[in-house]
Amino acid sequence: MPARSAATGNKTLLVRNADVLVTMDGERREIRGGGLYCVNGRIAQVGPTAQLPPTADEVLDMTGHIVIPGLVNTHHHMYQSLTRAVPAAQDAELFGWLKTLYPIWSRITPEMIEISTQTAMAELMLSGCTTSSDHLYLYPNGCTLDDSIDAARRIGMRFHAARGSMSVGESAGGLPPDSLVEREADILDDSQRLIDAYHDPGRFSMTRLVLAPCSPFSVSRELMRDSAALARECGVSLHTHLAENVNDIAYSREKFGMTPTEYVEDLGWVGPDVWHAHCVQLDDEGVYLFARTGTGVAHCPCSNMRLASGIAPVRKMRDAGVSVGLGVDGSASNDGAHLLGEARQAMLLQRVGFGPAAMSAREALEIATLGGAKVLGRDDIGALAVDMAADVVAFDLGAIEFAGALHDPVAALVFCAPPKVATSVINGRVVVRDGRVTTVDLPVVLERHNAFARQLLVR
Ligand SMILES: [Zn+2]
Repeated sequence: MPARSAATGNKTLLVRNADVLVTMDGERREIRGGGLYCVNGRIAQVGPTAQLPPTADEVLDMTGHIVIPGLVNTHHHMYQSLTRAVPAAQDAELFGWLKTLYPIWSRITPEMIEISTQTAMAELMLSGCTTSSDHLYLYPNGCTLDDSIDAARRIGMRFHAARGSMSVGESAGGLPPDSLVEREADILDDSQRLIDAYHDPGRFSMTRLVLAPCSPFSVSRELMRDSAALARECGVSLHTHLAENVNDIAYSREKFGMTPTEYVEDLGWVGPDVWHAHCVQLDDEGVYLFARTGTGVAHCPCSNMRLASGIAPVRKMRDAGVSVGLGVDGSASNDGAHLLGEARQAMLLQRVGFGPAAMSAREALEIATLGGAKVLGRDDIGALAVDMAADVVAFDLGAIEFAGALHDPVAALVFCAPPKVATSVINGRVVVRDGRVTTVDLPVVLERHNAFARQLLVR
């Protein structure tokens, strides 16, 4: 085995002969016959294959493939993979959907969190995603965020673990049942514990913590404020759901006497360290506020369509300079979690709302990579360039989905039906090879997952 330096233990990886390599670098280069060379999970060279070192510890020949930066998922609730297509929640809007599912979710166990997180991550990895956030906001029966973080480490996904929370139950005018809310002091103590135990702020970090009260309709104003203060003291990001649909807006006006825009501005929930999910009903003041303050948005088109929440003004946000990334959202409101497919839906949905020129395929791909990286506050993922993380995925251009579109394989990725990846590399490690996840025994995970799902629904 050549090219490993015995002296330093450097592990090298060579990706070569891609039909086209999409860099998403400053010049948006698309390199025919391209490749890249990585050392210890960091990209050292990118360019035509002939200009790269001839070999490495691991060599991936990508002849017949398109290679792109790993996609970034900015919003998810992975435990919901256990409750897809639940009959009573199939045709409801947000609040009715939540009230149907809360009692089922109240039976979730730590093992269920771990297995559903592995299932969700495997599905995301097979769809081209290499970095994901997950927003876990209910902790019944001894569940903790450690269960999610353990799962991410086992499967090898780059992970932003959002410590969600709910503190205002039904009896206090909130939406969730009282049995699913926590004491605010406990939430803050556990947040501090998790940051101390796991948060790695450095470049190429595989685990970061995020503080994420679930939504304005399930936590108090005080918890929003205290979470922001703690996050800023510890240097971690903030995340929540905002302005998801018209009922959400009505709740905000009635309960706080403010629009969601006014509410987050009043609480200090704006800035480059904050991103909000959905923002379907964000008003113009909100768009300009977010642009001015560097506040990010997780756009979740499938979920917005599934729950009939509306069409987020992504064209307007992008034109104003708002950072927008994609999110598949929880698996109970987007019963598929294909991130490349989500880019396709983002493009199509903007066109439904704002005309055929509202979003191009290449812009959708940019939102799915660079956009997501910016929203998560990272400068080391989202592009294939020197000194970026070796998070790389490849799709087989011989797949039936691309037949007839090979004159523009980059556009084909977004226009055509989304296939699964052939290869995925995260942090320099091959986690999908020949279309199979290498890090967990997926059939065994799925069998356990489906047994848990049955157990939750049958009771
Ligand atoms: Zn969500």
